[in-house]
Amino acid sequence: MTAFDRDFSMTIDGRAEAGEASIAVLNPATEEVVAHAPDCGRAQLDAAVAAARAAFPGWRATPLDQRRAAVAQIGAMIGANLDEFARLFTREQGRPVAKAAEELMGAAFWATSIARQDIPVIVNEDTPDRRSETRRVPLGVVGGIVPWNFPMLLGVWKIASALVTGNTLVIKPSPFTPLTMLKLGELMRPHLPPGVLNVVSGGDALGPWITGHPGIDKISFTGSTATGRRVMASAAATLKRVTLELGGNDAAIVLGDVDVAKVAEPLFWSAFGNNGQVCIATKRLYIHADVYDALARELTAIAARVKTGDGFEQGTELGPVQNRPQYERVKGLIADAKASGLAFLAGGEVPEGKGYFVPVTLVDNPPEDSRVVAEEAFGPVLPLLRFENVEEVIARANASDYGLAGSVWSADVAKAQAIAERLDTGTVWINEAQHVAPWIPFGGHKQSGIGVENGTEGLLEYTNAQTITVRKAVA
Ligand code: NAD
Repeated sequence: MTAFDRDFSMTIDGRAEAGEASIAVLNPATEEVVAHAPDCGRAQLDAAVAAARAAFPGWRATPLDQRRAAVAQIGAMIGANLDEFARLFTREQGRPVAKAAEELMGAAFWATSIARQDIPVIVNEDTPDRRSETRRVPLGVVGGIVPWNFPMLLGVWKIASALVTGNTLVIKPSPFTPLTMLKLGELMRPHLPPGVLNVVSGGDALGPWITGHPGIDKISFTGSTATGRRVMASAAATLKRVTLELGGNDAAIVLGDVDVAKVAEPLFWSAFGNNGQVCIATKRLYIHADVYDALARELTAIAARVKTGDGFEQGTELGPVQNRPQYERVKGLIADAKASGLAFLAGGEVPEGKGYFVPVTLVDNPPEDSRVVAEEAFGPVLPLLRFENVEEVIARANASDYGLAGSVWSADVAKAQAIAERLDTGTVWINEAQHVAPWIPFGGHKQSGIGVENGTEGLLEYTNAQTITVRKAVA
């Protein structure tokens, strides 16, 4: 029986490994230590990479159906331990238990779905003289690096895609939220050959060791744009392949013809779900002048009734901000807005006391160059921005180094689609936001990333193309 409140070990070569030291993992609602996670030493990382290398030839030769069955076990393990995982998740991440369970069920769903995806073979030429086809082969050892905002879902995207395509993996969760991923590694030990999935945890040194490691062939990284630049620079030394899923400053554009009562609730949650700590959260809400006041009133009313608190308390809808550095950053943005004389429709006062709690904060039509608009808040702070015409709002939405996603809201879908096509982002939703699925490619434009995850395209990022051309007449 796996204990979910103690015995957090890394998984290296199929075995439990303690760290050379340990890192304390805090509950962001109480600031108390939840548990200690291993702090992986350099020699231990070398051992994990060596184990992954040694396991690679056998794993790539394993029939696809067997690899698929093993990956599907990830879903089964999460499903069989859902309550324990969810409680541990809330203790380390802060999100209310029911919402934690949603992420875990999502991770299980992704694992089983990715396990079913096909890896296509393309016939380039088929003539009496010649047949040429391009198939996909695994890259080798993948290094996965995961952030703290969706520690299980984003980790499972990487594990499932890497393993089903025949790669082996060394994955590193964030030092703020390592515990659930360590437990998944432990639960998967009996279901995979040693070395196929290695889970390592540690402090700030570990990520750069992974990205610079000569034994790793690809980095799949999800995190901030600033770190993404460092990852790419480090990966360049050995020309590692990179997939970078980075930050965003998503605009939602609400046209004047919407039914305010219908769109208010989904717009609110597109910005404040997981406390705004979502790469694809609505981070700038552009509202047409015709409906600005009415929508602002609705959003303010929702903000007033949403309960922020400890994720274990009955009725809590939003937990704390996940960690102290992020809490300080969000408080800094609010303080800057105040010092600049901006008006608040909700929130703005951060309570003293234990836990990284920040109330839902709505800022009333701040200038475009204010920090609260220009920067990715990654917390429960949203600027509402008034606009008059479509040309102007498209230019404002695109005036960002980020290009992750965005949304357009209108009763006229054709009009919304025409706007969507002019936004410089990897995804645009119409009359919804944040719909992601294992079969839909997802990735950023501009400085929001390189490459995609999910869909066939996402799977292929874990492969090299290999073309085999046969001259038929000769042999
Ligand atoms: P972060 O960049 O600080 O950390 C992400 C991961 O990288 C962590 O595991 C961290 O330990 C590791 N890391 C830190 N420095 C490193 C280095 N020099 N080399 C290698 N690894 C290093 O990001 P975060 O604060 O954990 O996450 C929040 C950010 O992630 C936000 O900007 C958010 O928008 C972004 N994000 C993007 C997506 C997406 O799919 N595009 C999804 C979730 C989060």
